Amino acid sequence: METKIVDANKELLEFDAAAKCLKEGGLVAFPTETVYGLGGNALNPNSSKKIYEAKGRPSDNPLIVHICDIKTLDKICKEVCKEAYILAERFWPGQLTMVLNKSDIVPYETTGGLDTVAVRMPDNKVALALIDKAGGFVAAPSANVSGKPSPTKAEHVYNDMKGRIEYIVDGGEVGIGIESTIVDLTSKVPTILRPGYITKQMLEEVLETARYDKAILEENAGKDLVPKAPGMKYKHYAPNGELTIVSGNPETVVDKINTLVENNIKCGYKTGVIATDETVQQYRCNNVISLGTRKDKQTLSHNLYNALREFDNMEVLYIYSEDFGEDEFGQAIMNRLLKAAGYKRIEV
Ligand code: AMP
Ligand code: MG
Repeated sequence: METKIVDANKELLEFDAAAKCLKEGGLVAFPTETVYGLGGNALNPNSSKKIYEAKGRPSDNPLIVHICDIKTLDKICKEVCKEAYILAERFWPGQLTMVLNKSDIVPYETTGGLDTVAVRMPDNKVALALIDKAGGFVAAPSANVSGKPSPTKAEHVYNDMKGRIEYIVDGGEVGIGIESTIVDLTSKVPTILRPGYITKQMLEEVLETARYDKAILEENAGKDLVPKAPGMKYKHYAPNGELTIVSGNPETVVDKINTLVENNIKCGYKTGVIATDETVQQYRCNNVISLGTRKDKQTLSHNLYNALREFDNMEVLYIYSEDFGEDEFGQAIMNRLLKAAGYKRIEV
């Protein structure tokens, strides 16, 4: 299969053709404000099956359904609670995914066999136009091969998906760079199943209360709790090089990473460092990538997956990263980074 790349802003006829293909059961990758998604018609069981095949994703890992209009929420969900509308009013379009009871028109192929469905309205004009033209309900996981870092550029999607999908809609680089926050509204207390840009504190500004799924808390890593978002149990976002996070006070971290790098270089191992603007000059290593300044966590998340892919391109064998977990959004970044590292971390 040939994979066509369509410039969302210039090739309008081709864009319409991509939307039609999506509506009729084809696969089309598109930009959202978090990462690029791999879209299929959410109401068509065959489309969902094709998404799993293209990604090599285990089929018990359900897909998020993307919509473009709050009014359509009650078509794919039943018993929509008032909290759902409160959150949608406040955070949509945006980086919040809600888990609700599914209606009968949503096939089990889309929900990984569950009676609930995850729904989000992305904050990206290209995505919203595509969803609208494709019929309003687009199932879309991140457009990477399962286990690889999520794509933040059309080029990343092409590298992973060429020959596997019909179209890639190119809308430029995405903004946030890490996936949406997922909140489960079918449990008594709204429960965060995956941390993201929208933090618990932000949810609590409009809801009485919210909590984290125990299984995703860092302190419980390795305790064999089953996460309620099936996808959270898989190793994710892994670069080819062996990634280790070094935590502690900033100066000690820099010293420790420099020592580790030095030892690796002596052995002839190509090594990379994930740094910040504040520290980038202090590393004695040829392959240092700064994610940006610590003063702007959104820049850090925006650049994270691209940095992991860059290290793959450079074929580094070992990667050391600083820790970014000072606040809640930083912890959402750390959730991805720790998974990418298989929870390998050195405290200094
Ligand atoms: P991705 O599409 O890669 O961003 O991953 C989607 C995430 O949403 C995975 O971790 C899924 O397990 C989770 N998810 C999707 N649908 C549901 C659902 N009905 N209940 C719980 N988690 C869900
Ligand atoms: Mg993903």
